[in-house]
Amino acid sequence: MPRPILATIHSAALQHNLARARQAAPDAKTWAVVKANAYGHGIERAFEGLRSADGFALLDLEEAQRVRALGWRGPILLLEGVFETRDLELCSRLDLWHTVHCDEQIDMLAAHKTNLPHRVFLKLNSGMNRLGFTPERFRSAWARLNALAQVDEISLMTHFSDADGARGIIHQTRVFNEVTRDLPGERTLSNSAATLRHMTDHAATDSDPQDSLVSDWIRPGILLYGSSPDHPQHTSADWGLLPTMTLSSKIIATQAIDTGASVGYGSNFVADKPMTIGVVACGYADGYPRVCPTGTPILVAGQRTRTLGRVSMDMLAVDLTPLLRAGLSVGFGTEVTLWGRASNAAVLSIDEVAYAAGTLGYELMCALARRVPAQVQ
Ligand code: PLP
Repeated sequence: MPRPILATIHSAALQHNLARARQAAPDAKTWAVVKANAYGHGIERAFEGLRSADGFALLDLEEAQRVRALGWRGPILLLEGVFETRDLELCSRLDLWHTVHCDEQIDMLAAHKTNLPHRVFLKLNSGMNRLGFTPERFRSAWARLNALAQVDEISLMTHFSDADGARGIIHQTRVFNEVTRDLPGERTLSNSAATLRHMTDHAATDSDPQDSLVSDWIRPGILLYGSSPDHPQHTSADWGLLPTMTLSSKIIATQAIDTGASVGYGSNFVADKPMTIGVVACGYADGYPRVCPTGTPILVAGQRTRTLGRVSMDMLAVDLTPLLRAGLSVGFGTEVTLWGRASNAAVLSIDEVAYAAGTLGYELMCALARRVPAQVQ
Protein backbone atom coordinates (compact mmCIF):
# COMPACT_ATOMS: atom_id res chain seq x y z
CA MET A 1 0.00 0.00 0.00
CA PRO A 2 1.34 3.48 -0.82
CA ARG A 3 1.69 5.99 1.97
CA PRO A 4 -1.62 7.82 2.48
CA ILE A 5 -0.77 11.17 0.97
CA LEU A 6 -2.18 12.69 -2.19
CA ALA A 7 -2.31 15.97 -4.11
CA THR A 8 -5.54 16.49 -6.01
CA ILE A 9 -5.67 19.07 -8.81
CA HIS A 10 -9.18 20.41 -9.38
CA SER A 11 -9.82 21.15 -13.07
CA ALA A 12 -13.21 22.77 -12.45
CA ALA A 13 -11.63 25.16 -9.92
CA LEU A 14 -8.95 26.14 -12.45
CA GLN A 15 -11.70 26.85 -14.97
CA HIS A 16 -13.62 28.86 -12.39
CA ASN A 17 -10.58 30.97 -11.44
CA LEU A 18 -9.73 31.60 -15.09
CA ALA A 19 -13.31 32.82 -15.57
CA ARG A 20 -12.83 35.17 -12.57
CA ALA A 21 -9.76 36.66 -14.24
CA ARG A 22 -11.70 37.19 -17.44
CA GLN A 23 -14.58 38.74 -15.55
CA ALA A 24 -12.13 41.22 -14.02
CA ALA A 25 -10.70 42.24 -17.41
CA PRO A 26 -13.39 41.31 -19.91
CA ASP A 27 -11.81 43.02 -22.89
CA ALA A 28 -8.36 41.50 -22.48
CA LYS A 29 -6.95 38.19 -23.66
CA THR A 30 -5.44 35.99 -20.96
CA TRP A 31 -1.94 34.59 -20.76
CA ALA A 32 -2.37 31.79 -18.21
CA VAL A 33 0.96 31.76 -16.37
CA VAL A 34 2.10 28.14 -16.02
CA LYS A 35 5.75 28.66 -15.14
CA ALA A 36 7.35 26.63 -12.34
CA ASN A 37 5.46 23.58 -13.57
CA ALA A 38 2.14 25.43 -13.30
CA TYR A 39 2.99 26.68 -9.82
CA GLY A 40 3.67 23.14 -8.65
CA HIS A 41 0.42 21.72 -10.04
CA GLY A 42 2.13 20.04 -13.00
CA ILE A 43 1.72 21.58 -16.45
CA GLU A 44 0.05 18.46 -17.81
CA ARG A 45 -2.31 18.23 -14.84
CA ALA A 46 -3.28 21.93 -14.93
CA PHE A 47 -3.72 22.02 -18.70
CA GLU A 48 -7.19 20.51 -18.71
CA GLY A 49 -8.55 23.27 -16.46
CA LEU A 50 -6.73 26.09 -18.26
CA ARG A 51 -7.06 25.06 -21.90
CA SER A 52 -9.59 27.80 -22.65
CA ALA A 53 -6.94 30.49 -21.95
CA ASP A 54 -5.86 32.57 -24.94
CA GLY A 55 -2.20 31.74 -24.41
CA PHE A 56 0.28 30.23 -21.98
CA ALA A 57 3.12 32.19 -20.41
CA LEU A 58 5.99 30.17 -19.03
CA LEU A 59 9.65 30.20 -18.28
CA ASP A 60 11.75 28.15 -20.63
CA LEU A 61 11.90 26.05 -23.75
CA GLU A 62 11.43 22.80 -21.86
CA GLU A 63 8.08 23.99 -20.49
CA ALA A 64 7.12 25.32 -23.93
CA GLN A 65 7.85 21.93 -25.48
CA ARG A 66 5.65 20.26 -22.89
CA VAL A 67 2.74 22.59 -23.69
CA ARG A 68 3.17 21.99 -27.44
CA ALA A 69 3.29 18.23 -26.73
CA LEU A 70 -0.17 18.57 -25.19
CA GLY A 71 -1.44 19.66 -28.59
CA TRP A 72 -1.62 23.40 -27.82
CA ARG A 73 -1.31 25.33 -31.08
CA GLY A 74 -2.08 28.80 -29.70
CA PRO A 75 0.25 31.52 -28.37
CA ILE A 76 3.04 30.75 -25.90
CA LEU A 77 5.15 33.45 -24.28
CA LEU A 78 8.61 32.91 -22.78
CA LEU A 79 8.60 35.26 -19.79
CA GLU A 80 12.37 35.66 -19.51
CA GLY A 81 13.09 35.25 -23.20
CA VAL A 82 16.06 33.31 -24.50
CA PHE A 83 19.34 32.81 -22.70
CA GLU A 84 21.55 31.72 -25.63
CA THR A 85 21.60 32.36 -29.38
CA ARG A 86 20.99 28.71 -30.17
CA ASP A 87 17.64 28.92 -28.30
CA LEU A 88 16.32 31.26 -31.00
CA GLU A 89 16.07 28.48 -33.57
CA LEU A 90 13.92 26.31 -31.30
CA CYS A 91 11.94 29.37 -30.32
CA SER A 92 10.98 29.85 -33.97
CA ARG A 93 10.29 26.18 -34.55
CA LEU A 94 7.98 26.08 -31.52
CA ASP A 95 6.36 29.31 -32.73
CA LEU A 96 6.89 31.18 -29.45
CA TRP A 97 6.66 34.80 -28.44
CA HIS A 98 9.68 35.74 -26.40
CA THR A 99 10.41 38.53 -24.00
CA VAL A 100 13.31 40.84 -24.76
CA HIS A 101 14.51 42.57 -21.64
CA CYS A 102 18.22 43.35 -22.22
CA ASP A 103 20.69 44.45 -24.92
CA GLU A 104 22.32 41.02 -25.01
CA GLN A 105 19.05 39.48 -26.24
CA ILE A 106 18.82 42.09 -29.01
CA ASP A 107 22.44 41.26 -29.96
CA MET A 108 21.49 37.57 -30.19
CA LEU A 109 18.56 38.38 -32.46
CA ALA A 110 20.73 40.63 -34.65
CA ALA A 111 23.28 37.84 -35.08
CA HIS A 112 20.67 35.16 -35.75
CA LYS A 113 20.49 33.98 -39.37
CA THR A 114 16.93 32.91 -40.03
CA ASN A 115 14.04 33.34 -42.37
CA LEU A 116 11.56 32.57 -39.57
CA PRO A 117 10.72 35.99 -38.13
CA HIS A 118 10.46 36.51 -34.38
CA ARG A 119 7.62 37.99 -32.35
CA VAL A 120 8.77 39.61 -29.17
CA PHE A 121 7.46 41.37 -26.10
CA LEU A 122 9.81 44.22 -25.25
CA LYS A 123 9.94 44.67 -21.51
CA LEU A 124 9.96 47.97 -19.69
CA ASN A 125 11.47 48.18 -16.22
CA SER A 126 8.84 50.53 -14.82
CA GLY A 127 10.09 50.32 -11.26
CA MET A 128 10.63 46.75 -10.13
CA ASN A 129 14.29 46.78 -11.17
CA ARG A 130 14.40 43.11 -12.04
CA LEU A 131 14.09 42.68 -15.82
CA GLY A 132 13.58 45.25 -18.56
CA PHE A 133 14.86 48.44 -20.13
CA THR A 134 14.66 51.59 -18.07
CA PRO A 135 12.24 54.31 -19.22
CA GLU A 136 15.25 56.25 -20.56
CA ARG A 137 16.52 53.33 -22.68
CA PHE A 138 13.23 51.69 -23.69
CA ARG A 139 12.56 53.60 -26.88
CA SER A 140 16.07 53.14 -28.27
CA ALA A 141 15.75 49.39 -27.60
CA TRP A 142 12.43 49.47 -29.47
CA ALA A 143 14.04 51.29 -32.41
CA ARG A 144 16.90 48.76 -32.52
CA LEU A 145 14.47 45.84 -32.58
CA ASN A 146 12.27 47.55 -35.12
CA ALA A 147 15.21 47.85 -37.50
CA LEU A 148 15.95 44.09 -37.42
CA ALA A 149 14.72 41.95 -40.28
CA GLN A 150 14.62 39.02 -37.84
CA VAL A 151 11.79 40.67 -35.85
CA ASP A 152 8.38 41.14 -37.37
CA GLU A 153 6.20 42.03 -34.39
CA ILE A 154 7.00 44.00 -31.25
CA SER A 155 4.57 43.99 -28.33
CA LEU A 156 5.09 45.82 -25.07
CA MET A 157 5.13 44.64 -21.48
CA THR A 158 5.97 45.49 -17.89
CA HIS A 159 5.66 43.70 -14.55
CA PHE A 160 4.42 45.05 -11.22
CA SER A 161 6.35 44.78 -8.00
CA ASP A 162 3.54 45.34 -5.49
CA ALA A 163 0.11 43.92 -4.87
CA ASP A 164 -0.77 47.30 -3.47
CA GLY A 165 -2.37 49.74 -5.88
CA ALA A 166 -1.51 53.06 -4.35
CA ARG A 167 2.19 52.36 -3.94
CA GLY A 168 3.13 50.28 -6.90
CA ILE A 169 0.56 49.47 -9.52
CA ILE A 170 -0.66 52.99 -10.21
CA HIS A 171 2.84 54.47 -10.31
CA GLN A 172 4.23 51.76 -12.62
CA THR A 173 1.16 51.95 -14.87
CA ARG A 174 1.75 55.69 -15.29
CA VAL A 175 5.38 55.10 -16.19
CA PHE A 176 4.44 52.38 -18.71
CA ASN A 177 1.69 54.42 -20.35
CA GLU A 178 3.88 57.49 -20.58
CA VAL A 179 6.90 55.68 -22.09
CA THR A 180 4.90 53.58 -24.58
CA ARG A 181 2.27 56.21 -25.42
CA ASP A 182 2.60 56.38 -29.20
CA LEU A 183 4.30 53.05 -29.87
CA PRO A 184 2.37 50.47 -31.88
CA GLY A 185 1.83 46.91 -30.67
CA GLU A 186 -0.12 44.94 -28.11
CA ARG A 187 0.40 45.57 -24.43
CA THR A 188 0.47 43.39 -21.32
CA LEU A 189 0.77 44.68 -17.78
CA SER A 190 -1.34 42.92 -15.19
CA ASN A 191 -0.35 40.00 -12.99
CA SER A 192 -2.95 38.60 -10.56
CA ALA A 193 -2.89 41.49 -8.11
CA ALA A 194 -3.38 44.04 -10.86
CA THR A 195 -5.98 41.90 -12.63
CA LEU A 196 -8.05 41.77 -9.47
CA ARG A 197 -7.68 45.52 -9.15
CA HIS A 198 -9.41 45.88 -12.50
CA MET A 199 -12.53 45.00 -10.51
CA THR A 200 -12.02 47.21 -7.48
CA ASP A 201 -10.45 50.22 -9.23
CA HIS A 202 -12.42 50.30 -12.41
CA ALA A 203 -13.86 53.74 -11.90
CA ALA A 204 -10.57 55.22 -10.69
CA THR A 205 -8.42 53.79 -13.45
CA ASP A 206 -10.90 54.93 -16.06
CA SER A 207 -10.73 58.51 -14.91
CA ASP A 208 -7.19 59.31 -16.09
CA PRO A 209 -5.91 57.58 -19.22
CA GLN A 210 -2.38 57.63 -17.80
CA ASP A 211 -3.59 55.38 -14.93
CA SER A 212 -5.40 52.97 -17.19
CA LEU A 213 -4.54 49.33 -16.66
CA VAL A 214 -6.53 48.39 -19.73
CA SER A 215 -4.38 46.26 -22.00
CA ASP A 216 -4.58 43.63 -24.69
CA TRP A 217 -3.41 40.81 -22.44
CA ILE A 218 -3.50 40.10 -18.72
CA ARG A 219 -0.95 37.68 -17.20
CA PRO A 220 -2.47 36.12 -14.09
CA GLY A 221 -0.67 33.32 -12.31
CA ILE A 222 -1.44 32.84 -8.64
CA LEU A 223 -5.13 33.72 -8.88
CA LEU A 224 -5.64 30.87 -11.36
CA TYR A 225 -4.43 28.55 -8.62
CA GLY A 226 -6.94 29.89 -6.09
CA SER A 227 -4.54 31.82 -3.91
CA SER A 228 -4.92 35.49 -3.05
CA PRO A 229 -2.03 37.74 -4.11
CA ASP A 230 -2.69 40.00 -1.13
CA HIS A 231 -3.62 37.64 1.70
CA PRO A 232 -4.52 38.51 4.45
CA GLN A 233 -5.90 41.90 3.31
CA HIS A 234 -8.11 39.97 0.91
CA THR A 235 -8.55 36.23 1.23
CA SER A 236 -9.04 33.94 -1.74
CA ALA A 237 -12.71 33.67 -0.70
CA ASP A 238 -12.99 37.50 -0.77
CA TRP A 239 -11.81 37.37 -4.39
CA GLY A 240 -14.20 34.50 -5.19
CA LEU A 241 -11.38 32.07 -5.96
CA LEU A 242 -11.54 28.31 -5.45
CA PRO A 243 -8.66 26.07 -4.31
CA THR A 244 -7.11 24.17 -7.19
CA MET A 245 -4.78 21.96 -5.17
CA THR A 246 -5.77 19.81 -2.21
CA LEU A 247 -3.05 18.16 -0.18
CA SER A 248 -4.61 15.36 1.82
CA SER A 249 -3.39 12.58 4.06
CA LYS A 250 -4.60 10.40 6.90
CA ILE A 251 -4.05 9.85 10.56
CA ILE A 252 -1.66 6.92 10.92
CA ALA A 253 -1.41 6.80 14.73
CA THR A 254 -2.91 8.35 17.85
CA GLN A 255 -1.38 9.06 21.26
CA ALA A 256 -3.17 9.89 24.50
CA ILE A 257 -0.87 12.14 26.53
CA ASP A 258 -0.97 13.56 30.04
CA THR A 259 -0.41 17.09 31.28
CA GLY A 260 3.28 17.94 30.99
CA ALA A 261 4.01 15.50 28.14
CA SER A 262 5.67 16.91 25.02
CA VAL A 263 5.05 16.23 21.33
CA GLY A 264 7.65 15.74 18.58
CA TYR A 265 11.27 16.77 18.04
CA GLY A 266 12.63 19.44 20.33
CA SER A 267 9.75 18.87 22.78
CA ASN A 268 8.58 22.38 22.02
CA PHE A 269 4.91 21.65 22.57
CA VAL A 270 3.99 20.66 26.12
CA ALA A 271 0.42 19.62 26.99
CA ASP A 272 -1.28 21.73 29.66
CA LYS A 273 -4.03 19.12 30.03
CA PRO A 274 -4.63 15.50 29.00
CA MET A 275 -4.90 15.42 25.20
CA THR A 276 -5.31 13.09 22.24
CA ILE A 277 -2.80 13.58 19.44
CA GLY A 278 -3.20 12.41 15.85
CA VAL A 279 -0.08 11.65 13.80
CA VAL A 280 -0.48 12.56 10.10
CA ALA A 281 1.49 11.05 7.20
CA CYS A 282 2.77 14.36 5.88
CA GLY A 283 6.00 16.16 6.67
CA TYR A 284 8.45 18.66 5.30
CA ALA A 285 9.78 16.14 2.78
CA ASP A 286 6.30 16.26 1.22
CA GLY A 287 6.42 20.06 0.97
CA TYR A 288 4.61 20.97 4.19
CA PRO A 289 6.66 23.81 5.72
CA ARG A 290 8.78 22.78 8.70
CA VAL A 291 8.46 26.30 10.08
CA CYS A 292 4.69 26.02 10.60
CA PRO A 293 4.29 26.60 14.32
CA THR A 294 1.96 24.90 16.78
CA GLY A 295 -1.52 26.21 16.03
CA THR A 296 -1.32 26.14 12.23
CA PRO A 297 -4.85 25.41 10.97
CA ILE A 298 -5.56 21.95 9.54
CA LEU A 299 -8.72 19.97 8.75
CA VAL A 300 -9.39 16.56 10.28
CA ALA A 301 -12.53 14.92 8.90
CA GLY A 302 -13.23 18.33 7.37
CA GLN A 303 -13.21 20.01 10.82
CA ARG A 304 -10.73 22.69 11.80
CA THR A 305 -8.15 21.92 14.39
CA ARG A 306 -4.45 22.78 14.85
CA THR A 307 -1.01 21.30 14.41
CA LEU A 308 1.11 20.57 17.48
CA GLY A 309 4.88 20.72 17.88
CA ARG A 310 7.54 20.53 15.18
CA VAL A 311 6.81 19.20 11.72
CA SER A 312 9.01 16.14 11.06
CA MET A 313 10.32 14.91 7.72
CA ASP A 314 7.43 12.50 7.13
CA MET A 315 4.88 13.27 9.83
CA LEU A 316 3.22 15.98 11.82
CA ALA A 317 0.95 15.99 14.85
CA VAL A 318 -2.56 17.41 15.21
CA ASP A 319 -4.82 18.07 18.14
CA LEU A 320 -7.77 15.67 18.14
CA THR A 321 -8.93 16.63 21.64
CA PRO A 322 -11.63 19.20 20.69
CA LEU A 323 -12.98 16.99 17.91
CA LEU A 324 -13.31 13.97 20.21
CA ARG A 325 -14.91 16.16 22.83
CA ALA A 326 -17.45 17.29 20.23
CA GLY A 327 -18.35 13.62 19.72
CA LEU A 328 -16.65 13.14 16.35
CA SER A 329 -15.24 9.76 15.61
CA VAL A 330 -11.69 10.56 14.53
CA GLY A 331 -8.66 8.29 14.76
CA PHE A 332 -6.58 5.92 12.66
CA GLY A 333 -7.44 6.35 8.97
CA THR A 334 -9.37 9.63 9.33
CA GLU A 335 -8.97 12.05 6.41
CA VAL A 336 -6.70 15.04 7.00
CA THR A 337 -6.63 18.07 4.70
CA LEU A 338 -3.36 20.00 4.89
CA TRP A 339 -4.77 22.59 2.46
CA GLY A 340 -7.51 22.70 -0.13
CA ARG A 341 -10.95 21.09 -0.02
CA ALA A 342 -12.01 18.28 2.30
CA SER A 343 -14.53 15.56 1.38
CA ASN A 344 -17.25 17.45 3.29
CA ALA A 345 -16.49 20.52 1.09
CA ALA A 346 -14.86 22.47 3.94
CA VAL A 347 -12.01 24.63 2.61
CA LEU A 348 -8.66 25.48 4.18
CA SER A 349 -6.92 27.99 1.95
CA ILE A 350 -3.27 27.32 1.23
CA ASP A 351 -2.80 31.01 2.08
CA GLU A 352 -3.65 30.36 5.73
CA VAL A 353 -0.97 27.69 6.02
CA ALA A 354 1.50 29.88 4.13
CA TYR A 355 0.72 32.80 6.42
CA ALA A 356 1.40 30.65 9.49
CA ALA A 357 4.74 29.74 7.90
CA GLY A 358 5.55 33.40 7.20
CA THR A 359 5.43 32.91 3.45
CA LEU A 360 3.04 32.94 0.49
CA GLY A 361 0.78 30.45 -1.24
CA TYR A 362 3.16 30.67 -4.22
CA GLU A 363 6.01 29.07 -2.29
CA LEU A 364 3.95 26.23 -0.82
CA MET A 365 2.49 25.22 -4.18
CA CYS A 366 5.86 25.28 -5.88
CA ALA A 367 7.44 23.30 -3.05
CA LEU A 368 5.05 20.34 -3.29
CA ALA A 369 7.43 17.38 -3.31
CA ARG A 370 7.82 15.02 -6.24
CA ARG A 371 7.24 12.07 -3.97
CA VAL A 372 3.62 13.13 -3.39
CA PRO A 373 1.39 11.27 -5.86
CA ALA A 374 -1.11 13.47 -7.68
CA GLN A 375 -4.45 13.02 -9.39
CA VAL A 376 -6.59 15.31 -11.53
CA GLN A 377 -10.21 15.61 -10.62
N1 PLP B 1 4.20 37.92 -15.39
C1 PLP B 1 5.48 37.74 -15.02
C2 PLP B 1 6.56 38.37 -15.85
C3 PLP B 1 5.80 37.02 -13.88
O1 PLP B 1 7.09 36.86 -13.51
C4 PLP B 1 4.74 36.47 -13.10
C5 PLP B 1 5.02 35.73 -11.87
O2 PLP B 1 5.82 36.06 -11.06
C6 PLP B 1 3.43 36.66 -13.51
C7 PLP B 1 3.19 37.39 -14.67
C8 PLP B 1 2.27 36.14 -12.71
O3 PLP B 1 2.27 36.73 -11.43
P1 PLP B 1 1.16 36.34 -10.37
O4 PLP B 1 1.38 34.90 -10.04
O5 PLP B 1 1.44 37.21 -9.19
O6 PLP B 1 -0.14 36.59 -10.99
